[in-house]
Amino acid sequence: MNRVYNFSAGPAMMPVEVLEEAAKEMLNYKGCGSSVMELSHRSAEYKEIHEEAKNLLKELMNLDDKHEILFLQGGASSQFYMLPMNILNKEDRASYLITGSWAKKAYKEAKYFGQIDILASSEDDNFTYIPEIKENNIAKESKYLYLCTNNTIYGTRIDPKTIKNLKSNIVADMSSNILSEEYDMNQFKIAFAGAQKNLGPSGLTVVVVEKDFIEENKKDLPSMLNYTTHLEKDSMYNTPPCYSIYMCGLVAKWMKNIGGVKKLEELNREKAKLLYDFIDNSNLYKNNIKKEDRSLMNIVFVTGDEELDKEFVKESKAANIVNIKGHRSVGGMRASIYNAMPIEAVEYLINFMKDFEIQHK
Ligand SMILES: *Cc1c(COP(=O)(O)O)cnc(C)c1O
Repeated sequence: MNRVYNFSAGPAMMPVEVLEEAAKEMLNYKGCGSSVMELSHRSAEYKEIHEEAKNLLKELMNLDDKHEILFLQGGASSQFYMLPMNILNKEDRASYLITGSWAKKAYKEAKYFGQIDILASSEDDNFTYIPEIKENNIAKESKYLYLCTNNTIYGTRIDPKTIKNLKSNIVADMSSNILSEEYDMNQFKIAFAGAQKNLGPSGLTVVVVEKDFIEENKKDLPSMLNYTTHLEKDSMYNTPPCYSIYMCGLVAKWMKNIGGVKKLEELNREKAKLLYDFIDNSNLYKNNIKKEDRSLMNIVFVTGDEELDKEFVKESKAANIVNIKGHRSVGGMRASIYNAMPIEAVEYLINFMKDFEIQHK
């Protein structure tokens, strides 16, 4: 069967090896006569899947004992409110770096729960860069600094080096670049990601928490909205998204077999460099992102002519390249090249782009 070259920003392509393994186990998981979907979440078989997925993620993230992983639902978007709801009282302050639409949405939700400051924003230049993080400008009583480490729509990312020495309590939306390059994951008080970009299928949100930070700020909240509930119940207070967690575990195993995050970063840098170098050297395509802020995961480009962009999307589809149209708020094209994207697919895309350029001179 022919598979397409899927450059979707999310849900994104999965590693083929993972899909094959899941297919093999679909009807009869390890001889138990059931699909993973049909297992009780209290069964020994499922418990093992749950713990293994969690432990593999911890290992890949190099997490210390102070941190824990939660498997939640409701997408990254639910963390936009759950996070401030759990940490802030109405009079508390928090600081947000506005680097794109997702950070803006998170800011809007946080305002329901506290006094929220905008530390800086790059909206003035259509989010084509990451503003400098000046900690001196953060209110002393600010409880956390909120970052979005990769801006899926605009194609920027925050370099791990620029946040390494920050003193603030950092919380981050890492939906579109978690485990794609080496961040110090122990630096985060809370970090979350919808699984459907780099971790597996949708329906699962992975949340990394520093246990003391949750404990110190603990509040009386409805059970399902309270991080403490999920911490105490090992993400099994209610039925977890078992199948998505199983798939996430398979993806984690795949990442480990490749050589972990260090190796993935190497591969991701190689893929991104190939595409950026090609764009920078071409006469037709342009990427307007400040060089040092360019995302390794979502590479945006335009031809400078909206009609030609449309033609590009149309012709690329005929060449088996799908979901490469840019987000409706920015137009142009976007190639999302997450961990699962093989370098051969990036080469295939570049060859198509070359041909397209020649034909549309
Ligand atoms: C996709 C995305 C989201 C939204 O995720 P959902 O799981 O659909 O809520 C949030 N933040 C970033 C950075 C994203 O890329």
